[in-house]
Formats: sequence, structure tokens, C-alpha cells
Amino acid sequence: MIDEKLEDVYAEVLRRNPGEAEFHQAVGEVLESIGPAITKHPEFARRKIIQRICEPERQIIFRVPWETDDGEVQINRGFRVEFNSALGPYKGGLRFHPTVNLGIVKFLGFEQIFKNALTNLPIGGAKGGSDFDPKGRSDSEVMRFCQSLMTELYRHLGEYTDVPAGDTGVGGREIGWMFGQYKRITNRYESGVLTGKGIEWGGSLVRTEATGYGAVFFLEEMLKVRGQGIEGRTCVVSGSGNVAIYAIEKLLQEGAVVVGCSDSGGIIHDPDGIDLAVLKEIKEVERGRICDYSERRPSAVYTEGGNIWDIPCEVALPCATQNELTGRDATKLIANGCIAVAEGANMPTSPEGVRVFQDAGVAFGPGKAANAGGVATSALEMQQNASRDSWSFEHTEGRLRSIMEGIHASCYETAEAYGSPGNYVVGANIAGFERVARAMVALGLI
Ligand code: NDP
Repeated sequence: MIDEKLEDVYAEVLRRNPGEAEFHQAVGEVLESIGPAITKHPEFARRKIIQRICEPERQIIFRVPWETDDGEVQINRGFRVEFNSALGPYKGGLRFHPTVNLGIVKFLGFEQIFKNALTNLPIGGAKGGSDFDPKGRSDSEVMRFCQSLMTELYRHLGEYTDVPAGDTGVGGREIGWMFGQYKRITNRYESGVLTGKGIEWGGSLVRTEATGYGAVFFLEEMLKVRGQGIEGRTCVVSGSGNVAIYAIEKLLQEGAVVVGCSDSGGIIHDPDGIDLAVLKEIKEVERGRICDYSERRPSAVYTEGGNIWDIPCEVALPCATQNELTGRDATKLIANGCIAVAEGANMPTSPEGVRVFQDAGVAFGPGKAANAGGVATSALEMQQNASRDSWSFEHTEGRLRSIMEGIHASCYETAEAYGSPGNYVVGANIAGFERVARAMVALGLI
């Protein structure tokens, strides 16, 4: 329930942003949590901090024209929502997916403000992308698209201004083509303008692994305070992209057994445990579909269009997309013995699903805390770029682990301090909000 002091704020967000369902959901979830923080800090209400946080500092929408290999002209739409720069340059990924629209980018950008604040690193919040669908496109088509997008976007970026990274549909290959075009237009080798770069040209070790690894580190912290561990536990991870693959890798390193993963076409159930080498070969090398996995692993069953949350597990990591885990799915998971959920994706659990988990006492780590390892390691990449240095894998992974431990501690302690022990949603929202709000008060009316 939204605190009555914030009801008007929420009504105004709905009125000013019609039709943006995911953005409404993301704002509603934060407003439901932060009532006690507003009561504690009346100056935040007086300075209209919440109204200001809900309004992006700048929204850029632009045309992205490009040509297919057979010369057909295509028009896509590009977005960059620069949401909040109170804590540092705008920071957040670019998503290429046909479902991308302004409401999706705003929900992601809004979440990013609090996530970035939780890392305790100097980064503001933003998000961007395009409704371009990379599936089935040749390398040269994707490159032409990336170059066209950057031809407009470059003027809004800069290492002290706005620093995009990857997200769904944008990996190291796309970051390379966008960085190349930025360098060409500006005549500047400005490494710190994009993160997720290749290791040979300014990238950071562990960035590829960071979101998935970080989600597992957060999960381990949640289990630890309950006197439990991850070793030997049966896990299910949705998706089979960047976040999912590296969540699976870390789970396996920590001794867990992962029995399911998916893509938008269907699900794999492999009771013997997912063979990560086979999965990586299909998804990272061949850029293939998850259905190919069962052809190479006799123990695995592929179900087209199946529901991944029907597979029994003790730990669930939704790592695919928003609202992929419903109230019904949460009920099913609990009935099958699920004790912990860490969100690798952004807002993958519906509000009803979150309530079901919390009412049942399941350890529930919301995305803005559990998946913050990706952006945190992007900030470490910026640090390395600024000092023209490059750190070892072990050192960077160590930094990532301690950042995730710090985020967990801050969510856990904040939830306790505000009378909601064990509620990581409340803890993450209030801890992130307070940090941004204090900075906004300090910076004056901007
Ligand atoms: P990828 O594009 O690498 O992978 C996405 C995966 O999710 C693919 O397997 C995709 O399948 C699957 N998927 C997408 N939509 C659906 C759907 N509707 N139903 C089932 N499966 C689906 O993206 P990432 O791994 O980078 O991102 C995944 C999530 O994590 C997103 O919510 C993203 O915002 C979030 N995130 C990512 C970070 C990062 O560093 N990359 C950082 C923090 C959060 P298919 O190939 O069939 O489309």
C-alpha cells in the first residue's frame, strides 16, 4: 500500500505518463516502500524530492535509419532517458529488443537510480535502447544499426556526462561497434564513455560475468543470515543470456546443481544438471536456440513454450525479463520447496509474486539489489579507464564480492531499522532512495 502522503505523487505520475504500465509498476513499488523514510525526513517532502525523482532530467527519442543487406531501408526508434545525475554521470545499459518503448526505458532508468545508489559508487541513473530486433540479423546489419544509433547518441554522451553499457540484446560485439563509431565521430579515444568493452581495448575483466556472479553473491548473503548455504541446492535459472549463463557458472562453482534454464522459445529441464560448456557453445559461440541443447544432452528435455517455474527447485533466479514470474508461479515454486529467490533480471517478479514470496517467508532479493553487480563492475571499469590501469580477474572479482556484501548489508540493516526485518524490497528501496535524496537536497533545486 502506498503511504497516504504519497498517494497524490503517484496519481500525478499516472496522469503525466499515460500508458506506461511498467514505469507505473516500478514507481508504485518504490513509493510503497519509502513512506517511513518520508516521515523520518520531512525535508525530502518539503523539497519535493520524490516528485523530482519521478521526472527524468532529460528524455531523448530519435530516429535510427539503416539498411538491410539487400538494400531495404529500415527505421527504428532510439531512446535515452537520463533520469538522475545527483550521484554521478548518468549510467545504465542500452537494450535492443522489439518490445522496447518509452515506458520500458523509463521503468529501467527509474530502477537504475536506486540500484546505482546502492552500490555506493559515484554513478547516476539512466537507460536507453531501441526497438531494433537483432535476432536473425547478419553481423553487417547489426553493425550498421549500431553505427546509425551512435551517430545521434554520441552528442549526449561523455565520460563525465552519460556512460551507457549493455543490456538485453547488447553485448561486447555491439559495444565495440558503438565505441568505434563514437571514436570516429569525436576523434577521441575516450574509453570511459561506454562500459562492457573488450578486454584488449579498455574493458574490465569480470564485467561479462558480473551481473550473474553478483546475483549469486547476493543470494549467498541472504542464505548466510538464515544459517544456510548454496552448496548442494537444486536451482532453476530462467533465460540463457548474459546474466543467466554467468549466474549458472557461479552457482556451479559454489557446488549447486542447476536443473533448468530457458529462452523465449521454451525451457530445458536437465535433472542431471545443466552442462555449462554445451550451453555456452550454443548461446555464445553459435548464437543458437536453447532447443539445440536437448539434442546434445540425452538427459535433458526441451518443452516448447513451457513454464520454467514448474520445475521443482530450492532456489530460483529469474534472469530473463520483466514480469516473467507471476503470483501463480510463486505459489507453485513454494509448493515445490523453494526457499530463496534472487532476481538477476530487472523487475522479473510481478507485484503479486513478490507478495506471495514475502508472505511465505521466502528469502527474496529484488533486482535493484541482487543484480547491481553488473553496473558496479561497470563503475570499476570506469575507474580502470580513468587511471589507465587494468586489474586482474581475482582482484576485480574480490571487489565485486565485497560490493555485493555491502549492498546486502545495507538492505538488511535498513529493513531492520525501518521495522521490516528480512524485507529486502523495503531495505533496497529506502537505502537507495535516502542516498539519492540526500545528494539532491545538498545540490539545491536542480
Ligand atoms: P540477454 O539478451 O543476454 O539474454 C536475455 C535472455 O532472456 C535470453 O535468453 C532471452 O531469450 C530471454 N528472454 C527474453 N525475453 C524473454 C521472454 N519474454 N520469455 C522468456 N525468455 C526471455 O540479456 P541479459 O542477460 O543481459 O539481461 C537479462 C535481464 O537482466 C534483463 O532484465 C536485463 O535488464 C537484466 N540486467 C542485465 C544486466 C547486464 O549486465 N547484462 C545488468 C542488470 C540487469 P531469447 O534469446 O529467446 O530472446
